[in-house]
Amino acid sequence: MNHSKIFLLVLVISAMISCNRTTISEVEKTVAAAAPATKTKAKNVILMVGDGMGLGQLTAGMIANGNKTNFDKFTAIGLHKNSAFNDLITDSAAGATAFACGVKTYNGAIGVNSDTVAVKTILEEAEEMGMKTGLVATSTIVHATPASFIAHDPKRKNYEAIALDFMDVDIDFFVGGGSKYFNQRSDEKDLYAQLRTRGYQLEDYFSAELEDITIDPNKKFAYLTAIDSPLPQAQGRNYLMEATQKAIEHLSHNSPNGFFLMVEGSQIDWGGHANKADYIISEMIEFDNVVGYVADWTKKDQNTLLVVTADHETGGFAIQKGSTQDSLVTAFTSDYHTGVMIPVFAMGPFSEQFIGIYENTKIYNKMRTAYGWKDE
Ligand SMILES: [Zn+2]
Repeated sequence: MNHSKIFLLVLVISAMISCNRTTISEVEKTVAAAAPATKTKAKNVILMVGDGMGLGQLTAGMIANGNKTNFDKFTAIGLHKNSAFNDLITDSAAGATAFACGVKTYNGAIGVNSDTVAVKTILEEAEEMGMKTGLVATSTIVHATPASFIAHDPKRKNYEAIALDFMDVDIDFFVGGGSKYFNQRSDEKDLYAQLRTRGYQLEDYFSAELEDITIDPNKKFAYLTAIDSPLPQAQGRNYLMEATQKAIEHLSHNSPNGFFLMVEGSQIDWGGHANKADYIISEMIEFDNVVGYVADWTKKDQNTLLVVTADHETGGFAIQKGSTQDSLVTAFTSDYHTGVMIPVFAMGPFSEQFIGIYENTKIYNKMRTAYGWKDE
């Protein structure tokens, strides 16, 4: 073997060794990235619901936003099957009750099963565990999605009865519309006064803008954003980001046992019912921005499971041939909800559970598993 052959052999062997090293270290990195299994549980869970947000809505919002979306921050992505107990097409009440209580129920049911029997919600369970809890919505706070986490009623339209149910749970933070169900009631009960007696700092659109309020960290907080339904975002409603930031700040302060928060972008659904693409897109972009804020907070916090999904799609909304980046050609098949599967995005401890295809009720079970609660 001459010198140049020996040199070549050394070169080949050292290349093989370094190649091996690279492979091992890459495997180690992959294992480390896939295994936040060191966490035995998630301290906090944040569930974000874009009501009526199917893939069409999400994609339209993304294209209108310069082809950018904060949903690209997620890597644990799945699909849920969203039928109601006795109907392939769910409404928001049955859809939210599936997330809140883990049961399939009939359309219109708020926190009750298919026999109209009350089922404890994940928010009520969190309260019992000494955790902090919150609800934020761009509908009234007694509307189907937020209501299903705190109230029990056989009929979603029983708004005054649903508002009364807020008096039975020590929810720490809530923001949404519908002040009339609290202080202009047919039974003349003054739930504003009751909330203050129960230790709430209670404000509304009439007393101050949400952004101007200093929240007392030692009190529970409630803010009513409108007499009835809040305006669409395009007509001046602008509180979802502010309310979500204040909710997270309030609930994470001095909370050794963690918190549960549900945030709803309520009116993506209303744009679908109205068959108005512009309405869907403006609501979608607002929700996307808030998802981006919460995702960044979740990444920093490292103890929080964040789940973002919808209850159902609304409108059979499609992006059609002829669409360009600057101008979408859209169509609708319906002015109601449709039955397509719905994407689920998760990050944080136990987020890998949300990969795959499963029933909407499993979202409840997966959130409980993340908290380390025994499944029932
Ligand atoms: Zn709807």
